[in-house]
Amino acid sequence: MFDNNDICRFMKENYLKYKNWNIEEITKLFNIVISDLHDRNVLIFQKDTDAVILKSRFVRKQCLKCYYINYLSASSESPNCHRCKSDNLKDFPSKK
Ligand SMILES: [Zn+2]
Repeated sequence: MFDNNDICRFMKENYLKYKNWNIEEITKLFNIVISDLHDRNVLIFQKDTDAVILKSRFVRKQCLKCYYINYLSASSESPNCHRCKSDNLKDFPSKK
């Protein structure tokens, strides 16, 4: 269980890609990702505390075709890109 705003700050601090974004842009992007995950039943919102609860562990995979970063539930989902449906995915960030 974690807080939306904490995640956005974490993303900003940890990923170069988001370094030059302002926090509003990150929050917007993040909310899109979160509602997508919610639609796919991966996580639940807790409205009163503005917290997000993951139903299971999730992994990030980057599509090698369209470079979309997918958030996949580690337990249930079949690994296909949610944008282009390619199954050519690699772990993100990539392991060295
Ligand atoms: Zn893709």
